[in-house]
Amino acid sequence: MPAIPSFAAMPDENGFFGAYGGQFVPPHLKQIMDGINAAYDEIRQREDFQQELASLFADYVGRPSPIFHARRLSEQLGGAQIHLKREDLNHTGAHKINHCLGEALLARFMGKKRVIAETGAGQHGVALATACALVGIPCEIHMGQVDIEKEHPNVTKMKILGCKLVAVTRGAATLKEAVDSAFEEYLKDPEGTIYAIGSVVGPHPFPRMVRDFQSIIGREARAQFQQKHQRLPDYVTACVGGGSNAIGMFTAFLEDEAVHLVGVEPAGEGLEKPGRHSATLSKGHPGQLHGMACYVLEDAQGQPAAVHSIASGLDYPGVGPQHSYLKDTGRVQYDVASDAETLDAFITLSRVEGIIPALESAHAVAWAIRTAPTLSANQHILVNLSGRGDKDADYVAARLGL
Ligand SMILES: *Cc1c(COP(=O)(O)O)cnc(C)c1O
Repeated sequence: MPAIPSFAAMPDENGFFGAYGGQFVPPHLKQIMDGINAAYDEIRQREDFQQELASLFADYVGRPSPIFHARRLSEQLGGAQIHLKREDLNHTGAHKINHCLGEALLARFMGKKRVIAETGAGQHGVALATACALVGIPCEIHMGQVDIEKEHPNVTKMKILGCKLVAVTRGAATLKEAVDSAFEEYLKDPEGTIYAIGSVVGPHPFPRMVRDFQSIIGREARAQFQQKHQRLPDYVTACVGGGSNAIGMFTAFLEDEAVHLVGVEPAGEGLEKPGRHSATLSKGHPGQLHGMACYVLEDAQGQPAAVHSIASGLDYPGVGPQHSYLKDTGRVQYDVASDAETLDAFITLSRVEGIIPALESAHAVAWAIRTAPTLSANQHILVNLSGRGDKDADYVAARLGL
């Protein structure tokens, strides 16, 4: 299997998925982005790059990740069969390593002297610091002071991995300020540096590139499922923050019209409570954010809204342009799961199958748990288990008084 297949159709040469995507950035930055796109177009077709990425996926990440049939859970629910694509078993514990390795290899290919990024909960920071250690490129991660205090294990890991951690103290000192700070630093030397975006968001070519690197998930899963069951699943589901694990899973199934694709957004404390959810596709409107056209959650002043989710990896007021397009075309259905349902799913999967999921992934598990009883025992739901829940264990235990 080539490390990166060719997706001829989307996006177009200007980075648009229908009305979404593009490059809403100043002209000098557009030039830089076009340079990254050209370098990516070159590297993705090179045999040596394909081979290096494929062998890192196999020997470093531990791919292919297995598909596990959650038999006990399926039996208890008394409906469809639930299967889990185990991205939680990857090195560093989630799907993010897939695109971080790709971005680090691209940085090396382009002769960049430094990789820079922001991180919220620290998951992207750890995956990127890991990839940069492996490839041998200096890495600088900007993180809000508030998040630094909350996410101690990830902060420690980033330091051990040798990245430069920049504490951002301005404003609310969380993800948004970290993005602003990292971006300002990037703009000081966009020739020598590459900004490694953590999801399928931002200006073209990032939504395309990150999707391509993540598409290994769905290509593996589709072949594995075929081989095991001589058919395809009826439903394929994944949680959606920026949308990288979901698009990585869905891409291989887009042409399979009989397969229902369902993205699950965080309903947080309720869709009727502005600022207390992060369901961009369900409650937002087309707009612009971080250099792209996409669905956006906005407040009354037209600014990006405050957002919330029990899973910090999902609280983003925008979403990938391809998801915005797939929603409008109806090819993917977007549903939600609340904090409470997610917490239930987290505990249920832990206790019935012995798998502690990331709170992000538990949103997709919650959707499967809700939906399976409405289907029959010969129907199949494939869930992308995007990451493991070690990072969330203390929080959940404290919240539930365990
Ligand atoms: C970061 C993260 C997500 C959310 O990001 P997407 O780009 O929407 O995939 C989901 N699951 C896990 C485990 C994460 O770390």
